[in-house]
Amino acid sequence: MPALGNPEAAVQAAAMQDELQQRGIVGVAFSFLDNSGIARTKGVPLARLPQAAQWGVGMAPSFDVSLLDDSSTSSASAGGPVGDLRLIPDLDALRPLVAEPGWAWAPVERWSQEGKPHPQCQRSLVRQTVDAVGAMGLQVKTAFEIEWMLSCAEGDDYEPVTRAPAYGSIRMTELSDYTAELLSALAEQGIEVMQLHPEFSPGQFELSVAHGNPLQAADDNMLARRTIRAVGLKHGMRTTYSPVVEEGQVGNGSHCHFSLWRDAHNLLANGDGPHGMSAEGEAFLAGILRDMPALLAVGAPSVASYLRLQPSHWSGDFQCWGLENREAALRFVAGPSAVAESSANAEVKCLDATASSYLVIAAIVSLGLSGVREQLSLPQELLVDPATLSEAQLREHGIRQLPGSLQQSIDAFAGCEVLRSAFGQDLFETLIAVRRAELALFAKSNPQQIIAATRWRY
Ligand code: GLU
Ligand code: MG
Repeated sequence: MPALGNPEAAVQAAAMQDELQQRGIVGVAFSFLDNSGIARTKGVPLARLPQAAQWGVGMAPSFDVSLLDDSSTSSASAGGPVGDLRLIPDLDALRPLVAEPGWAWAPVERWSQEGKPHPQCQRSLVRQTVDAVGAMGLQVKTAFEIEWMLSCAEGDDYEPVTRAPAYGSIRMTELSDYTAELLSALAEQGIEVMQLHPEFSPGQFELSVAHGNPLQAADDNMLARRTIRAVGLKHGMRTTYSPVVEEGQVGNGSHCHFSLWRDAHNLLANGDGPHGMSAEGEAFLAGILRDMPALLAVGAPSVASYLRLQPSHWSGDFQCWGLENREAALRFVAGPSAVAESSANAEVKCLDATASSYLVIAAIVSLGLSGVREQLSLPQELLVDPATLSEAQLREHGIRQLPGSLQQSIDAFAGCEVLRSAFGQDLFETLIAVRRAELALFAKSNPQQIIAATRWRY
């Protein structure tokens, strides 16, 4: 675990240097996600790794309040030009960047110069969340699906590299060199890919990563996205994870899968509840479903997010759940019944890649645990597209459409005591400040301007 001033980290880094050098590594990129979901980074030459592992490298705390266009806002506890934090790499998570020859990568945690974890460090928050899960005798496994679009346009326009059919073999064949190189780069970096396929919109692909512990899932997400972009550039293509890339098209989601475990038993299988959930598994899902509008301020955090989140786009725009229902914000995935123990999981679909994978995991797990503590149960499931129901039918089922704007999500978030206490007051307030500032940034923009301003930032 990263910590400021740990002499053992310097020893560990020194022991890694030879092998890294033999692999041609000359520098290590340290990276973290800011509160607008942008990966920020600083690099050190390989020779400096031991020093940096023990004492970190400096970075302004103002990145807590940076916005997607690199401008800044402020909150009660963040902002301004003064102060410094130390970025301390997690050496256990260090990986070579196969598609960026010469470079390795490590996620960092941010510490104060006085030797305390920074209260607004997202990766430390995931650690705390994992501890809270463990304190209840539980474990959580999580994974992200990654969707992206590939452009061959000059400049900042978007021109899909292929218009071959969705899920189609032609698209796969056209880009087989690229996808093969991508799979091998990810495998060499220790990221276990489950599937890769051409997605719905022109130029769109998706891959899913195997379930891991929450910290690993969040790290893998940042690393995989960097790798996908780097491999694309080698093939002359630009990658975007932006929620909406072309107006009116199905966008890029960043769905999060999870399962809850106790003593090596999956609590989403083998129980007496709906589709074999145990009472705790059901309560975990119910906690997430109850506060889904507040979760959106974390998981669909940009102004552009609400251009993606539309009915009948498989983006999960309604606050409901259902077995294999791709229009429900919370989709239950049972998997083949013979292997339910290993395959049963749930998926939050309303999320996109302008969100930080660390904050998303911390929020989902904290809401789930609140459901377990309060022994919540799920409402009746929905097995049709909610967009086909009338207002009266939706009311009858107790189903609401999710917030249609970032403003509404912020309002729900601001009133969510579970997330306030999980995130801590400083980070909670900072997130609200960042969301409000991005809202103000686009107050006078039309959808096309929002899409253009977001497209190449993620
Ligand atoms: N691209 C869709 C989205 O925006 C998701 C499609 C799928 O279900 O994989 O979330
Ligand atoms: Mg998909």
